[in-house]
This record gives sequence, C-alpha cells and structure tokens, in this order.
Amino acid sequence: MATPIFGICHLCGVHKRLSFEHVPPRAAFNTNPILRSSFERVVMNEDLDDLQGKIQQRGSGAYTLCGKCNSDTGAWYADSYVKWAEQAMRLLMAARGQPSLEYPFHLYPLRVLKQIVCMFFSVNNPRFQQAQPDLVRFVLNREVRQIPPDVRIYAFYMLSNRMRSSGASSSIQGFGTGNSKLHVFSEIAFAPFGFVMTLGDMLPPQPNLVDISGFTQYGYRDWRTGISMKLPVMSIYTAFPGDYRTRSQTLADLAANKAYEASLKSGLTE
Ligand SMILES: [Zn+2]
Repeated sequence: MATPIFGICHLCGVHKRLSFEHVPPRAAFNTNPILRSSFERVVMNEDLDDLQGKIQQRGSGAYTLCGKCNSDTGAWYADSYVKWAEQAMRLLMAARGQPSLEYPFHLYPLRVLKQIVCMFFSVNNPRFQQAQPDLVRFVLNREVRQIPPDVRIYAFYMLSNRMRSSGASSSIQGFGTGNSKLHVFSEIAFAPFGFVMTLGDMLPPQPNLVDISGFTQYGYRDWRTGISMKLPVMSIYTAFPGDYRTRSQTLADLAANKAYEASLKSGLTE
C-alpha cells in the first residue's frame, strides 16, 4: 500500500486524506504515462524539443481532492466531459487537425462546464477555494447554475501530444509596446481541448477563444443535441500559459532574438 497523502482538498478546503484526481478525467484520453516537467525546467532548456522530467505512469493529475469531492464530481460530471472530448477528438482526427466549420455537439452543457471548473480547482493552489466560495458551490452542488460574474471560461481545440496547465497568474502581453494588457487567468490544455478561466473581469490571453460560460443557462438534467460551436485550433508548444505560437513560429522567434543579440554584441566590439 502506498503511503496515504494528506493535505487540503482543493474543493471543500478540509484537511483530509487526498486521492489522485485525473485532469482531465482518465477516460478522456488520459490513461498514458506522461512526462512531468516543471515550468522552470522547460523554460531553462535551450532546446525546446528536448523535454526532460519525470515519467508519471498514471496519466496527468495530482493528489488534489479528498475522496468525497473526487468521487462526487467524478460521478456527476466526468462522463459528460468524456463524451464531449470523444466527439471533439473524432472531429479533429477527421479534419486532420484543421476543422473549419461549426460543428454540432451533443452534450450535457452544465455538467461539462462543472467538470472543467473542477479541473481548474485541481490545477490551482488549494487556497483558491477560499477566494472563490461561489465557484466551489457551483461544483459541489449539481444544481447550482451561477458562476461569479467576473469569472469566464473559454475553450479551444488543441491537438498535440504536449500538455500544460497553470494556476491563476497574471501575464502582461505586449510589454513595452505602449499597448500592453494585463491578463489574469488559469489554463489547462490537454488534447483535444484547451480551457482558459479568466478572473477579475480580465480579457482572455487571445481574443478568438470561445466563451462557454453560457453553459450555465442549462440545468443539470438538460441534454442538448446540436450545440454548434466553432472553436479555434491553438498550439501549445512552449511552457508559457497563453502562448499559442506553433513550433515553427517559436523557433523562428528564438532565431530572430539570437540574431538580434549577436548583432548587439558585434556592434559593441567594433
Ligand atoms: Zn473535498
């Protein structure tokens, strides 16, 4: 038997024995071993194709929820999320990663949204539940349909064998351009989806992400066929949350930066 792990449950906030919470649910393509790498490790590595880290055999996730929160949310929402992910994966495969049309999904919208919010609690610090009591209620009570008005959830497609997740943090985009914007958000990207949760009425890191917060208009038992959505396909090559450049864009930027640094150096020595 493995040593029990105790800590603060990221949802109910009680100090208890914690259970392993898969993010996303196991059945949503999250059964393979993953290479766990820290953000710092990835950022420090010059060769962005060379990922180093620790193999985690049981898929992506962590000891974040107590047994009750894990089994309740699993029983209420996980299967609905899995069914939606299966439809999106089929669509992405059929369109070779480039779906260009609106696609009608069949889903329990509220359950899917609650599963996504639950995943955001797992990737955030356990103190996040203290700061967001209404969002906790949204997840721990099946019927609740309100999320705080300053919180929005956005979705996109992501077809990559890489994944990344980050708790709420702020990023400044366009720093030094005179047009910089502050974004406070949390992000989870695991094929076929990526999600961004913005906090404090902030804009998402990309304007074309699709806002799915409106899933709250449905009830727990509302099954909908043909909800049309056209989600953008984003790339997540680097470890930076909100960075949607492709591998070739990232490497081209890196090469341009190096050339610029080299030109500065040669300018100094002349
Ligand atoms: Zn709990």
